Amino acid sequence: SFVVTGASGHLGRLVVEGLLEKVPADQVTALVRSEEKGAAFAARGVRTAIADYNAPETFDGLFAAGDKVLLISSSEMTRDRVAQHKVVVDAARAAGVALVAYTSAAGTHGAPLTEAHRGTEKVLVDSGLPYVLLRNNWYSEIFVDRLETVVEHGVLVRAAGEGRIASATRADYAAGAVAVLTGEGHENTTYELGGDRAWSFAEFAAELGRRTGKEIVYQPVTVEAYVDLLAGAGMPELYAGIMADADASFSKGELAFTSGELSRLIGRPTTPIGDTVAAALKRP
Ligand code: NDP
Repeated sequence: SFVVTGASGHLGRLVVEGLLEKVPADQVTALVRSEEKGAAFAARGVRTAIADYNAPETFDGLFAAGDKVLLISSSEMTRDRVAQHKVVVDAARAAGVALVAYTSAAGTHGAPLTEAHRGTEKVLVDSGLPYVLLRNNWYSEIFVDRLETVVEHGVLVRAAGEGRIASATRADYAAGAVAVLTGEGHENTTYELGGDRAWSFAEFAAELGRRTGKEIVYQPVTVEAYVDLLAGAGMPELYAGIMADADASFSKGELAFTSGELSRLIGRPTTPIGDTVAAALKRP
């Protein structure tokens, strides 16, 4: 069976969709945290099971020998995510699954975002299970959040300098995960996955300008000024810090790496950032 954790999330839903195009529904198991979250899957014949990273016993007997598991990283930023992920790896090892693929993060940038990913990678590799590390670059969708405010003011404020980002869409990464799960010969491989082309915020602003017919200017600011701006807009300190930390790493070019590995895995080019901008502008 193909088992997907975090199946109710944005990425997880796309992975389940992708699996359903390749294998019968009864070979797919979606792990969710409540019955309601599994209802849409169950309606399509997908097997569901309720499991919570914070309750190790919920993973008892969940996996079977030979399963191929996609461990989608936890979104609970205030928890010990390495410990959460270890719960899944331990259960997978006890069952003797055939593969655990983990949605890790690209780049070398520092805590707190990537630390948990590197820690989890170590737990998984040390487990002795056949593994795949999917080091996903940033999701393009993250950058089109709150686009309305940018368009309204004609200014895109970030602390990323001239740094470039090789982002791709969740659909691109989901297709990559599906290719690894359903394909052969991916055991014990680390993939650096991202978009085919890295873009800068100046280009992003220009793209937004072209597609809205308005003048949009990129205004790079210092990390400190950016944190103040986000906090002033009501963002909790933890998240403002994470955003600013990310921009600092973008500015150093740490997420600009274009390996072409994702488009090779999925057999098509990755989605250009302009397409993501266009899709966001069409949203009601
Ligand atoms: P979502 O927030 O949409 O989904 C997160 C999923 O994890 C949900 O299904 C959620 O379940 C599940 N989950 C959270 N906590 C637990 C838990 N304790 N036990 C079991 N399941 C849990 O995120 P995305 O799908 O967009 O992204 C997937 C992951 O990728 C994120 O969790 C995050 O680690 C990482 N990420 C990467 C980004 C990037 O740019 N590369 C950007 C953002 C996130 P429930 O529906 O019940 O809440």
